Amino acid sequence: MRPECNTGGEELYECFDCGFRCESGGTCPTCDGELRHLGRSRDL
Ligand SMILES: [Zn+2]
Repeated sequence: MRPECNTGGEELYECFDCGFRCESGGTCPTCDGELRHLGRSRDL
């Protein structure tokens, strides 16, 4: 079980290393990778 942020907001960030998604950018809490901005979550 991996931690996940609430993805119900407009903005979405994703770690391309492990797939972790979060509403706020920065560093991935699970693999220490970079969270990249994907834009609005509805695009996915
Ligand atoms: Zn990650």
